[in-house]
Amino acid sequence: MATDMEVNQVTETPPAPPAEGESWLRLVVLQPSPFCNINCDYCYLPDRAQTHRMSPETLQRAVGEIFSSDLIANEVTFVWHAGEPLAVPIPWYEEAFALIRDAAPADIKPVHTFQSNGTLINERWCEFFNRWDAHLGLSIDGPEFIHDIHRQTRKGSGTHAQAMRGARLLRESGRDFHVIAVVTEQSLDQADAIFDFFMENGIFRFGFNIDETEGANAASSLEGVSSDRIEAFFRRMFERQKAERGRVCIREFDSALHRIMRGRTDETERFVYENEQVRPFGILSIDWRGNFSTYSPELLGLTLDPYGEFSFGSVHETHLSDAIQTPKFQQVLTDIQAGVERCRTECAYFDLCGGGAPANKYFENGGFATSATQYCRYAVKVPINLVLQDLEISLGTAAAN
Ligand code: SF4
Repeated sequence: MATDMEVNQVTETPPAPPAEGESWLRLVVLQPSPFCNINCDYCYLPDRAQTHRMSPETLQRAVGEIFSSDLIANEVTFVWHAGEPLAVPIPWYEEAFALIRDAAPADIKPVHTFQSNGTLINERWCEFFNRWDAHLGLSIDGPEFIHDIHRQTRKGSGTHAQAMRGARLLRESGRDFHVIAVVTEQSLDQADAIFDFFMENGIFRFGFNIDETEGANAASSLEGVSSDRIEAFFRRMFERQKAERGRVCIREFDSALHRIMRGRTDETERFVYENEQVRPFGILSIDWRGNFSTYSPELLGLTLDPYGEFSFGSVHETHLSDAIQTPKFQQVLTDIQAGVERCRTECAYFDLCGGGAPANKYFENGGFATSATQYCRYAVKVPINLVLQDLEISLGTAAAN
């Protein structure tokens, strides 16, 4: 998934519509504006030059729908994303966060996360983040000579210096953050340079999204690149992480280990709920107009054959749970479940994955009712293989001793 969000992907059985009393919704992706102040060439967002902003009425309707819904779990994270969220001014968020705080039932604590390109961070934003205890993820692809190839302004200037200034201000204000780096063709031979850059800058939590053909990104820089080269990149990252002996968290490998080890704990009952991307209302996405969808967040608002616009209604007109009964929702549900079933029967990794990401299946394979993708190869299979091989070696060494 080319969004810069962290979405878990573990499930055991295909999803079904929520039964009465079940609470599934733990992740809400809100788009305050489609606008982004920069213009990365691998971005999937088609409307990132549009400066629309979510109105107070739409936000109020959205928040009301979320908290009055039977779907909501007792722990819900709001991700502000899908455009550059910090292009919307602080007073807008002051009102939005206060609205959410006041509307949330007493037993639900909202958590706020921004996924940002970092270029607009200043001292006032840092004060705001600290005051609301907001989480931050920055999009930084590594050192300047890699980052600035793809992450440029509309005039073609690099953005690395501004993003790193934002990172420095965050650190000086005491706010921790993680980093998402997009792996492009230019990254592949630079695993050490990227890892060294993160270490030198005190960035110890990061993850990798591969450059994907998705949405407005019509061509990935990785097209035609040998899988051996991409796998070598991940292998080197894993070697470097291991050498740091626990100091560094890399999302893909930590997630793989978590998936493998969790099969050995009493958390087994929770498996069914762990792949939010294939679970109806595992993720709720709401755009600036109030239109909403579920499954992979990046699908919202795109026109997808045969479904038309990928939206299941507007918070101004439709209750979230009523959308489940619509023909479009049922058609999407059927197709996504068919894809999960194919994964279950075709893939040895299914128990550790749960059926992948519908957006990647659609864009890579032409439909939801499909299975393997390039995305799942590098986000799921390669990390699991590396971690499993390492565990086997460790266990073999331990047994020999
Ligand atoms: S084919 Fe890919 S998406 Fe499907 S279960 Fe296997 S790893 Fe997951």
